Amino acid sequence: MAGQVFVSGGSGYIAGFLIRQLIAEGWTVHTSIRNLGREAEVRGWLGVDNSKLQFFAADLLGDDGWAEAVAGCSHVAHVASPLPSNAPKDDDELIVPAREGALRALRFAHAAGIKRFVMTSSVAAIAYGHGKTRQHFTEADWTNINSPDAYAYVKSKTIAERAARDWVAANAPDMEYVTVNPSLVLGPLLAPDFSTSLEAIKKLLEGSIPGLPNFGFSVVDVRDVADLHVRCLTAPDMAGERFVAAGPFLWMKDVAAILKDGLGEQARKVPRRKLPDFLVRISALFDPVIAQVVGELGNVRDTSAQHAMDVLGWKTRDPKESIVDTARDMIRLGVVKV
Ligand code: NAP
Repeated sequence: MAGQVFVSGGSGYIAGFLIRQLIAEGWTVHTSIRNLGREAEVRGWLGVDNSKLQFFAADLLGDDGWAEAVAGCSHVAHVASPLPSNAPKDDDELIVPAREGALRALRFAHAAGIKRFVMTSSVAAIAYGHGKTRQHFTEADWTNINSPDAYAYVKSKTIAERAARDWVAANAPDMEYVTVNPSLVLGPLLAPDFSTSLEAIKKLLEGSIPGLPNFGFSVVDVRDVADLHVRCLTAPDMAGERFVAAGPFLWMKDVAAILKDGLGEQARKVPRRKLPDFLVRISALFDPVIAQVVGELGNVRDTSAQHAMDVLGWKTRDPKESIVDTARDMIRLGVVKV
C-alpha cells in the first residue's frame, strides 16, 4: 500500500528516517519545515527521489501552510514537537507547541479528509509519576503530570497526546488516530544536526563527563521507530491504538561497555568508573542537560513493546548495533573528536 502522506517536521531525526522509508516503499511525501530556506540542506541529507518529496513551510504555532501541506494526502504522520536539550525557563515553552501543534495538525488533517493520523508520542507520556518502585510499563499506563519527576518535556508529551485523543473522540471519531511512543532513540545519523536523544553518546565519546552516572533508559533504533510508524500508517484497524517502541533497558555502564567493545581505541575517552550520585547532583548545578534529568538517578523505566510485536509483527534490532552506529556516525560526521 502506498499513496500520499504528510509528515510534519521533515528536518527532524525520526522524520528523516520515516520519509526515507516511505519513499522507498513508493509513497509520495509532503513534509513541513519551519523555514523553506532549509529545504536544500534537508533534501541533501535525505538523499531520496526528489520528485517524490514536497516541502511546505509550517510552524506548530501558526495556521499558515498547514492546509496546503495536507492537501491531497490520505495519511498523516505528525512527528514534529520540541525536544530541547536544556530545561526551558517556563514549561509552557514546550507544552504549548506540543499541544497546539498536535491539535492544529489534527484540525487541518480532519478538514482535508485524512483517514489515518499517526502521532509520535513518547514513553514520556507513559512511565513517569508512578513512584520509584514501579519499574515496568505498557501502553495501559499514563504519566501523572502532577508528579515531581514529570519535567517539562514529559508534561508536554503527555498533555499533547491526551489533548489529541480527546479532540479526536469529540470531533473526528471517523479518523483513525494512533500513537507511536518511543523510548530513547539512537542509531545512525543523516546529518551533524542531531536529536537531543543522542547527546549522552556524544558526552561519553568525547569524555566530557568524568564517570558513568547511574542513569538508565530503554534504547530503540531510529530505523525501527520509522518502521513502526509505517506499520501504523498501513495496518488495518488502528483506531485508538497506542504502541510503545522500545528495546531493552540499559544502564550507562552497559552503554559504555558496548562502545568500548564496538569501537576499541576510538572509545578511549569513554569513562570506565561509575560516578557517585552526589557528584552528578553537583554537576547538575552547572550543566543544564544533566539538570533536566538528575531526578532520573537510579530509576528503572522499562517499557515493553510486546504489543507492537504481537499486533504488528514489529521487531527491534540489538541495541548494540544502534549504539555503535550512533557513535560511528558521530565520528564520521565530525560531531565528536575522539
Ligand atoms: P528532532 O530531531 O529534534 O526533531 C524535532 C522536529 O520538530 C524538528 O523537525 C523541529 O524543527 C520540529 N519542531 C520543533 N518545534 C517546532 C515548531 N514550533 N514548529 C514546527 N516544527 C517544530 O527530534 P526527534 O528525535 O526526531 O523527535 C521527533 C518526535 O519524536 C518528537 O515528537 C519527539 O517528542 C518524539 N520522541 C523522540 C524521542 C527521541 O529519543 N529522539 C523519544 C520519544 C519521542 P526544527 O528542525 O525547525 O527545529
